[in-house]
Amino acid sequence: MWTGWWLWSLVAACSADSFRDEAERIMQDTPVVDGHNDLAWQLLDQFNNQLTLEAANLSTLASTHTNIPKLRAGFVGGQFWSVYTPCDTQNRDAVRRTLEQMDVVHRLCQTYPQAFLCVSSSAGIEQAFQEGKVASLIGVEGGHSIDSSLGVLRMLYRLGMRYLTLTHSCNTPWADNWLVDTGDEAAQSHGLSPFGKLVVKEMNRLGVIIDLSHVSVATMKAALQLSQAPVIFSHSSAYSLCAHQRNAAGVPCPLPARQTGPQPSALSPPLPEQNKTGSVVMVDFYNDYVSCRKEATLSEVADHLDHIKKVAGAGAVGLGGDYDGVTRLPVGLEDVSKYPDLIAELLRRNWTEDEVRGVLARNLLRVFRKVEEVSDHTQTPEELPIPLEQLDGSCRTLYGYSKAPSLRRQPGLLLAPLAPLFLSLSSVAP
Ligand SMILES: [Zn+2]
Repeated sequence: MWTGWWLWSLVAACSADSFRDEAERIMQDTPVVDGHNDLAWQLLDQFNNQLTLEAANLSTLASTHTNIPKLRAGFVGGQFWSVYTPCDTQNRDAVRRTLEQMDVVHRLCQTYPQAFLCVSSSAGIEQAFQEGKVASLIGVEGGHSIDSSLGVLRMLYRLGMRYLTLTHSCNTPWADNWLVDTGDEAAQSHGLSPFGKLVVKEMNRLGVIIDLSHVSVATMKAALQLSQAPVIFSHSSAYSLCAHQRNAAGVPCPLPARQTGPQPSALSPPLPEQNKTGSVVMVDFYNDYVSCRKEATLSEVADHLDHIKKVAGAGAVGLGGDYDGVTRLPVGLEDVSKYPDLIAELLRRNWTEDEVRGVLARNLLRVFRKVEEVSDHTQTPEELPIPLEQLDGSCRTLYGYSKAPSLRRQPGLLLAPLAPLFLSLSSVAP
């Protein structure tokens, strides 16, 4: 009896190791492309973006979930570095802060050329794979970073932005965030405003991936309906396993015939478009979104991956760990070196090699290629400015609004509500 137990333990230990070995074998040619990492925020917060400080050395930095040795140990081959500026910068210095965070990502590549390769295309990611470097891409987290300006959106694209999260945890003048669904913030645009729809169209035209983490359900629905390209949730988990509004509301039942488990609340209706468009949910590891508790485990994260696979297919699953953006991480997934353990767990759960390669990188690459295919730089850029009345004017000049011909072209749509304002502006502007 005792001998039998001993043998069984040995077999179990060996097979656990073999899954881990198999994970590493797969990850050698298909490394992780993660959707969301807040290292850039940590560099601002801890070092005011001074990369040359000895304490900020990414080969030895220990106060973050992310450093170069951990990235190597975790087989990370691509990372959307989050360019994040908090909501209190909205209508203040959001654009400056955004530019500075983009600058720090570019300087990471310059400071550590052996570790990071800044790229801005799906082909660039594959090139970095071949060079054994971390493909470094920019995801801008929060529509407030464009300050309601299509011109700023276009310039951020030119500087490398390849996804934009339509909101952070605050409404923009043109899109509502998830707090609208909890009742903590009032609905403003009821999804996307007419200007918000122009933002989404322009993102399609440019080739910027639409990220729906942080947005309200109405915003998700509007964007999914409008977008010509698949979207991502760069760092969200499955709502039906943890009923947090930051999680992907479309995941519980994208296909009515395959509905399982508890039904989502009225605030998170099924979004069949998500599956139809080939979009990807990149699972967030933050304990509060994984277990809805302060504690969570690697196995519970795998449950989210299993669930999304079950209801939307393995092609809808990705990884968006949210490292360095959160304070509580699951036991077994404490930092970016741990991805192979999660992949070993999927193999243990009978995920096929193909499915695992999809989760690691191929699903995201598929979305990215489609976004690139849909983009069309020969099309005329959208020009219509946001209606002035929708902007918080406390810190703004009003140049362009007093005589803007683009606004006057459509009096029924935009000019009428502004008429009193234009009259007063016309009387003071030379
Ligand atoms: Zn976030």
